Amino acid sequence: NQNLAQFDPEIAGVLDLELERQRTTLEMIASENFVPRAVLQAQGSVLTNKYAEGYPGRRYYGGCEAVDQAENLAIERAKAVFGAGYVNVQPHAGAQANAAVLHALAKPGDTILGLALDHGGHLTHGMKINFSGKIYNATAYQVDPETMRVDMDQVREAALKHRPTVIIAGWSAYSRHLDFAAFREIADEVGAYLWTDMAHFAGLVAAGLHPSPVPYSDVVSTTVHKTLGGPRSGMLLAKDDTLAKKLNSAVFPGQQGGPLMHVIAAKAVAMKYAQTEEFADRQARTLEGAKIIAERLCADDVKDTGIRLLTGGTDVHLVMVDLRDSALNGQEGEDLLHAAGITINRNTVPFDPRPPAVGSGLRIGTPALATRGFGAEEFREVADIIATALVDACTGEADTQALRERVSALTDRFALYPDLNQSN
Ligand code: PLP
Repeated sequence: NQNLAQFDPEIAGVLDLELERQRTTLEMIASENFVPRAVLQAQGSVLTNKYAEGYPGRRYYGGCEAVDQAENLAIERAKAVFGAGYVNVQPHAGAQANAAVLHALAKPGDTILGLALDHGGHLTHGMKINFSGKIYNATAYQVDPETMRVDMDQVREAALKHRPTVIIAGWSAYSRHLDFAAFREIADEVGAYLWTDMAHFAGLVAAGLHPSPVPYSDVVSTTVHKTLGGPRSGMLLAKDDTLAKKLNSAVFPGQQGGPLMHVIAAKAVAMKYAQTEEFADRQARTLEGAKIIAERLCADDVKDTGIRLLTGGTDVHLVMVDLRDSALNGQEGEDLLHAAGITINRNTVPFDPRPPAVGSGLRIGTPALATRGFGAEEFREVADIIATALVDACTGEADTQALRERVSALTDRFALYPDLNQSN
């Protein structure tokens, strides 16, 4: 019955170190967020002890009366948040949710069509050495080289050429809305299923700040931990029950064994939180922050260094910085922001001349800072710190210490998990 600090001081030390890192830096990885305390509690609970293979009321294990309630609450709340008629909350993560979708809709060898990985797509949308590229005949559409946006004429052309069984709408590194109605039309024209992966923008959809793919798609997958701000995990949704049997059996027993009931309880908490005004306000600040950063990074001093913004702006929670014409590469950009106390990730950009390990892009997101409480004023300061860091690095005048102090002034003002002690 020893607590963590007593039994395992090494791991307790890791938790303390990470909490300190999160408290003292600006977390701007577009796929990260800070979960509410209630989510941490549910996820770190005794529900981790319970096996519950099957679905509520139809389990293959005894003693599921409590966890059944958690799963039913998670399902009902997620249906309410997204206006969905069908939800499965069991996928352990986004990748498992996506594997289940393809398992349900396609046979090995069938053709799938998604956004190319180096144009902003995800590994599970057909990358060569991912299951999606190995099991299925993966084909891809790209963004337009001029606008850097998904061009629906090109998607249609690719669909007519490849005749896919499944068309995938969704992205990991892209800053604009997709035209779900046009995707639906194309899917109907070629007789394909339309699967939307809304992992990145689900929080904005939940708050009504982004078009919903649910009415247009045969199935929608999502992670729960990005803009949605819940526990790390995945989820499937659909407008109705048409594919329910196929999807449920693709998740269990198709992909997974016992569901993680502690995570499912935490998903239920997250879905309750997603119905609050606080959540809606946070999503609005997430969007506002990204637009403020986009505007600052399009200013003349930044432009003069050759740094550009892909698509020239953003409709979502992230911006994509294009370093192809600047003196910096992605790795250098990531490193210099890290030294200033800002955590982001480098990325390739479409038509990138640099190898993926270095890349010519930076992906910068606002969800975690909005959750921390940042509003327009703070995002203006963050935007200026980032712009100054990038411009000064290009002109050889970087003052990392001064930037670090500006970062600390912000993090000091916004306490993160103020009375959390993880090891007791
Ligand atoms: N789908 C998209 C669009 C993503 O961006 C990601 C993760 O970055 C995933 C799926 C995979 O989620 P996970 O990391 O939970 O497996």
